[in-house]
Amino acid sequence: MPRYEVTIEKDACDGIFACLTRDPRFVEGEDGLATIDPGADPVYDCEGEVTDTDERVVATFDDDRIEEAKQAATACPTDAIVVEEVDR
Ligand code: SF4
Repeated sequence: MPRYEVTIEKDACDGIFACLTRDPRFVEGEDGLATIDPGADPVYDCEGEVTDTDERVVATFDDDRIEEAKQAATACPTDAIVVEEVDR
């Protein structure tokens, strides 16, 4: 299974929330911008590590759902989301 990292650049995020409908792990954060909550998905019980700072959200996952994350990235009109595979 690929290990991959999902990054949301908060500077670029406009709070449009197109990402939420593509991948339910994306949620609205307290600041009105997108963040990632691995436990927010009602269907999958997925695990991941999330770091949420003022500049960006970085989440690492180890599952077969990279395509969903990529769809969220593609749907984002401001290209605020980057998905990339990382080495173990
Ligand atoms: S679609 Fe992009 S701009 Fe909109 S909330 Fe998600 S990350 Fe932010």
